Amino acid sequence: MRQLQAARRLIDSASRPVSFSGAGLSAESGIATFRGHDDDALWNQYDPTQLASQQGFSENPELVIEWYKARRRTLHAASPNAAHKTLSQQNNWIHITQNVDNLLESAGADPNDVLHLHGSLLRDHCNANCGFTEIISLADPPDLRQCPKCHAALRPSVIWFGEPLDDEVFNLAVSHVMACDLLLVIGTSAQVYPAAGLIELADQHDASVVLINTESVKLDSERYAFVQGKASEVVPLLFNSEPS
Ligand code: NAD
Repeated sequence: MRQLQAARRLIDSASRPVSFSGAGLSAESGIATFRGHDDDALWNQYDPTQLASQQGFSENPELVIEWYKARRRTLHAASPNAAHKTLSQQNNWIHITQNVDNLLESAGADPNDVLHLHGSLLRDHCNANCGFTEIISLADPPDLRQCPKCHAALRPSVIWFGEPLDDEVFNLAVSHVMACDLLLVIGTSAQVYPAAGLIELADQHDASVVLINTESVKLDSERYAFVQGKASEVVPLLFNSEPS
């Protein structure tokens, strides 16, 4: 309770707030996390190097695309939860997310205020990087198919293991974090770099850091406040609204 109140005070007094989210933000929307302890956490069921890497795609492209079809259908059936809704209603916030589900935008966030560090399930692009890109249907996700421009394979526009982030998006995220006075970190295991480095960056630039996670988190700095709980319950409480 003391941590919740401390976190609320930090949020109330922030003038340049930024949220930084991971898969835990969308867990209660029915989208599996990657490294959680729940049985349906994705990496507990599948080998990431097979399903989310260039090597896996070249070895078995059909398997990779089938896995993404299943993820896309799951996302089609999902709705934003109370945490997405609360965040999307805040004025003057920038949202940096590792999630590829666009649920912040589905909840009403201005797409210009959301930075996708790891891409989006809603788009495909040419695996040979010829420049072709296309919005796909989540209701009827595409099979493995060829790029209409250069005939290489098309693939989901998400960052796979071993691939660099989009420089422009990451540099913009870095500049927002360096300028922010509060970083609200929601549902990330903070194990995937360089994204996870944004938390240390905020601290180095004297921003307050509030962490929300269902599992206890080791605090690296006294300035961090940690609220343990589910994102859909904690986030509305932090902003004085009822969970819905
Ligand atoms: P992660 O799976 O590594 O960690 C999830 C974290 O959320 C864990 O620390 C877990 O304890 C916490 N958590 C679980 N349920 C929660 C809840 N209801 N409320 C609050 N916290 C909760 O996820 P990550 O850190 O985002 O890992 C990074 C990678 O996972 C990213 O590359 C991202 O692209 C990818 N990913 C995205 C989605 C999505 O788009 N929704 C889903 C799975 C993985």
